[in-house]
Amino acid sequence: MRVAVFGSTGSIGVSTLDVLARHPQRYTVEVLAAASNHARLLEQCLRHRPRLAVLQSAAAAERLASSLRSAGAATEVRCGAAALEECAASDGVDAVMAAIVGAAGLPSTLAAARAGKRVLLANKESLVVAGPLLVDAARRGGATLIPIDSEHNAIFQCMPPGLETGRPGHGVQRVLLTASGGPFLRTPAEALAGVTPEQACAHPRWRMGRKISVDSATLMNKGLELIEACLLFGMEPARVEVVVHPQSIVHSMVEYVDGSILAQLGNPDMRTPIAHALGWPERIVSGVQSLDLVAAARLDFEAPDLARFPALGLARAAAEAGGTAPAALNAANEVAVAAFLAGRLGFPGIPRVIESVLERHRNGPAAALAAVLEADRWARELAETMLAGPAVAGA
Ligand code: NAD
Ligand code: MG
Repeated sequence: MRVAVFGSTGSIGVSTLDVLARHPQRYTVEVLAAASNHARLLEQCLRHRPRLAVLQSAAAAERLASSLRSAGAATEVRCGAAALEECAASDGVDAVMAAIVGAAGLPSTLAAARAGKRVLLANKESLVVAGPLLVDAARRGGATLIPIDSEHNAIFQCMPPGLETGRPGHGVQRVLLTASGGPFLRTPAEALAGVTPEQACAHPRWRMGRKISVDSATLMNKGLELIEACLLFGMEPARVEVVVHPQSIVHSMVEYVDGSILAQLGNPDMRTPIAHALGWPERIVSGVQSLDLVAAARLDFEAPDLARFPALGLARAAAEAGGTAPAALNAANEVAVAAFLAGRLGFPGIPRVIESVLERHRNGPAAALAAVLEADRWARELAETMLAGPAVAGA
């Protein structure tokens, strides 16, 4: 199988290359793509020898090309979003790991779906922004969409055989989406105003990129995942329950009409869902250690606190509203998280910005790509304007 890894320099990208390197007979790395980290992409190119490397920044691409030439490597270098979409659809690629962060991953993920590839979907934002379009593109293109997000991959594994993307599994009653609760699970409400980006990014169970780490801290990550679950598994939001499970051992569960609940368990290591999706329907070695249940000893479950973590409620409301509301929610969140990481916005300001944007959002159908892109643009612009004003800047 010839694999393209989009977002190869990130946390998911690095884990993907680790799994691929364990199976050189089975997989070849065809394309590596990232935003601008040419130094790390150079190392990855020298190690994995892809046919093509794509960077978004032209200057970084230039530097990569010259370093590759000096090293005598044959990898061709291209740059820009159009090159990425072309790679996603190219005949030389069988599977695309969609691991770019944010709505920036949408065009290449859509292109891979339309072209009928095996799409290993880590980029949850593309589903949140354009879920029905992406699911429809995959169906028409004959693509196989396999979720990489650990919860959705767990749900996928617990679903009955013959599952179709976007359609409910036979006999399924509910989905139980587990959440670690993030680094501020026990932080009192008054203390949340003073938390720093470093504290927000110090996740107790998972090592991830900075954007998703902040999303985990606000519980927006679980909100985005709720929307993701509804789209992937054809469920109404009311049938997806969020359960806080601090040990992050049960990665999610599916409840059937007969009262059975199936769960997928494992150590919190993204190489498990990555290997599952690469090998599916077979199983391949991932490098993940066996789970020692006796050492873990306990599995705790509790309800999420929507008062301290309003982002989850905002996401549920957007899931229920449907249309372009999830696209607006996601865009406002991306802007607010970037502002928090840059020290321009306090932690409680993140859900406040999103709520203000959604209050002004005029919902409409998300049937065309132009409509969701317009909602995304509108929400980003409004969120930026709010951040520049006095109302939320001090939040
Ligand atoms: P990260 O920040 O570590 O990596 C992001 C990658 O995307 C980098 O390689 C970066 O260069 C690339 N990138 C960013 N913008 C780009 C652009 N415009 N064009 C091309 N490449 C671009 O993020 P991550 O933690 O690896 O997460 C990636 C995605 O996977 C996110 O959507 C995240 O929500 C999802 N995800 C991550 C984890 C995890 O454990 N890290 C778990 C579940 C889901
Ligand atoms: Mg997840």
